[in-house]
Amino acid sequence: PTTPALDDLRADFPALDQEVRPGVRLTYLDNAATTLKPWPVIRAVQAFDAEYPANVHRGIHTLSERATEAYESAREKVARFIGAAEVEEVVWTRGTTEAINLIAQSWGRTFLKEGDEIVLSDLEHHANLIPWQMLAKERGVVLRFAEISDDGRLEPEAVERVLSDRTRVVAVTAMSNVLGTVVPLEPIVAMAHDRGAIVVVDGAQGVPHRAIDVGRLPVDFLAFSGHKMCGPTGIGVLYGRRELLEAMPPAWGGGSMVLRVSREGAEWNELPYKFEPGTPPIAQAIGLGAAVDYLSRLDSEAVASHERSLMEYAHRRLAEVGGVRILGPEPEYKGGILGMDVEGVHPHDLAQLLDRHGVAVRAGQHCAMPLHHRLGLPATARASAYLYNTTDDFDRLAEAIADARRLLHDRRPRRPA
Ligand code: PMP
Repeated sequence: PTTPALDDLRADFPALDQEVRPGVRLTYLDNAATTLKPWPVIRAVQAFDAEYPANVHRGIHTLSERATEAYESAREKVARFIGAAEVEEVVWTRGTTEAINLIAQSWGRTFLKEGDEIVLSDLEHHANLIPWQMLAKERGVVLRFAEISDDGRLEPEAVERVLSDRTRVVAVTAMSNVLGTVVPLEPIVAMAHDRGAIVVVDGAQGVPHRAIDVGRLPVDFLAFSGHKMCGPTGIGVLYGRRELLEAMPPAWGGGSMVLRVSREGAEWNELPYKFEPGTPPIAQAIGLGAAVDYLSRLDSEAVASHERSLMEYAHRRLAEVGGVRILGPEPEYKGGILGMDVEGVHPHDLAQLLDRHGVAVRAGQHCAMPLHHRLGLPATARASAYLYNTTDDFDRLAEAIADARRLLHDRRPRRPA
């Protein structure tokens, strides 16, 4: 794989080339929320809708066969992308959230009992917290939290400290969506397995950056979302080791997930269909297949080093602005996410003022309230980069933040002389 020049790559993403208001160009730095879509993804979705919008697995007619072919080949692409041994280990879901709920509701309810422990970390997105809290309430399971360091890193030792003989699950994110922290999964997986616990990885932020290969890193479950990796919304993946998926009951019932049905009961379909009742998000899956093709053509090392150099640039550039505290670790320990606390400016006001400059960032708690409690901040602002961002984008961010600070400072009531 090679990576085209940045200008050529940017030309693949039509949404980049726009003014959010007359004369104000878009600077898109909200990639951790969702990424933009390149032409091949847009065209793949459009081709399905325009040419062969048929249901899958059912019709014995040409369009349905074509739809099924494209839909199942997307599954194969995803399996290869994450290094899964078997295509049947890739279950389509609506996204990371649904994937983790599926694990908790199906595996968790079947195999966990009162007093069993689940280890999470302070970094978790609500998607990797609430489903476990719901299970804990229902089953008397205990949640334990590995603490992060003050600079937002999760050390393997912190996980070790909360492991016990009762640990059955270690569920951690691969990358924090607030601080960008990359979690050292390898030692964590080894420790968990030593204790006989399974490892669930929230890959919503990690997988788009090619951080996980389940062929090399033996995680038990991996959840991620298409829309954070150039694909459509409404499609995501639950990867699970075959043995675990085989042992799990379906979480939902309906058509397609059964082989034989009587009035009294049913026999479940084979993997992965057992977990996929009803008409699936066909166009979205095909779009995700196209996104994976797109990402696979790029040199992942080059993309990672591009994002790292953007973060190094951003850390330097924002230090010049003054009043900007960058949260989380140094660039070498993180992906392309910049959590910020700007002195004297509420994150929501900041996001609004940046939008005047066409700079799109996110403000709030980013579905990670416990992490904000740990940081001692009511909310943060977040700028997040992807493969198409440039140092110019961070120049515009820095200038817009400086402008916001000037504006708010000038507006402060002055004491009469
Ligand atoms: N986990 C992390 C780390 C995330 O960043 C997100 C998305 N913000 C999610 C889970 C949830 O993903 P989705 O909303 O696509 O289900």
